[in-house]
Amino acid sequence: MKITGFKVYQVALPLLEGNYSWSQGKSVDVFDSTVVQVDTDATLTGFGEVCPLGPIYLPAYAAGARAGIYEIAPQLLGDDPTQLQALNAKMDRVMKGHPYVKSAIDMACWDILGKAAQMPVCHLLGGRYGEDVILYRAISQRPAEEMARNVAEYRSEGYRRFQLKVGGNPNDDIERIRATRSVLEPGDKLIADANTGWLMHEAMRVVNAVRDVDVYIEQPCTTYEQCLSIRRNTNLPFVLDEVIDSIDAILKGASDHAMDVVNIKISKFGGLTKAKQARDLCVSLGIAMTLEDSWGGDIITAAISHLAHSTPTEFLFTSTDFNSYVTKSIASGAPQRINGRMSASTEPGLGISPDFDILGDPIWSCP
Ligand code: MG
Repeated sequence: MKITGFKVYQVALPLLEGNYSWSQGKSVDVFDSTVVQVDTDATLTGFGEVCPLGPIYLPAYAAGARAGIYEIAPQLLGDDPTQLQALNAKMDRVMKGHPYVKSAIDMACWDILGKAAQMPVCHLLGGRYGEDVILYRAISQRPAEEMARNVAEYRSEGYRRFQLKVGGNPNDDIERIRATRSVLEPGDKLIADANTGWLMHEAMRVVNAVRDVDVYIEQPCTTYEQCLSIRRNTNLPFVLDEVIDSIDAILKGASDHAMDVVNIKISKFGGLTKAKQARDLCVSLGIAMTLEDSWGGDIITAAISHLAHSTPTEFLFTSTDFNSYVTKSIASGAPQRINGRMSASTEPGLGISPDFDILGDPIWSCP
């Protein structure tokens, strides 16, 4: 099979809650998402999506994703989309780094591989574990009482895991953690995600002040070493996210006992091929994972569901249904949350069909 062409679509995804706010006053109202269509000489077409969390979360931005795709895609014409390791090696040969640029292309090629094999992507990623996968709800940064109300409301919709956006003023964050934990039941999980927002002295104040609370601490500070320092001075379970962006980072973190859980985002690693490699390594190392992406619509949610559903259940700390955070559906067939859980499609490939009325005309194509 050969790749015969690419089309790129751009779509704005407004947030249901109006905006999404996290550490240090960062906020997004509308997400800028990019959908890639890969055409082949076998009449099979695949779709992928990439959607950075604005330009100030990771070193990634929406226009950069598109600029990179315009650079790489022409060089993949004639290549076999079903030979994913070889395709990824080619992408790395024609562009060094910039993993998020390659993510949607890789995702679209997994969609093609699944359609060619007549199997859902989760089967090809390792197999379907259990009936469904558990989701967390991200709780946008607001005053403590409002966050507690939001947690209670999402809990009533079925969620049992909540990721609080902290990383603001430490006194406020301590209040946020206590107020939200007080509306939860013992089996529920609460994660305080600072998204790199605290300096070390602020992180130490927070972890000391909530030492008696059943809460996980996620990515308190900017660098790996800063996080490691906090990790070594707290007994609270610890998640690393932003600094875990490569196989090397996972191996270093495992050897330093720097975390109990890692967050693997598909585009942070460069697509499903590399996220699978990272996922499989974590399983071998005994490290549980949050499996997700930076943000996204229906296509990314479908890709996340296949990665999460093909992960041994005990290793899946949590996952995300981004399509329920935004007001616009860009594809049918994507997972729909039921009681705080979702399952991967049983259809071949990712199991989605893009809605071209919503996507509009392509903004770029090749050849
Ligand atoms: Mg995080």
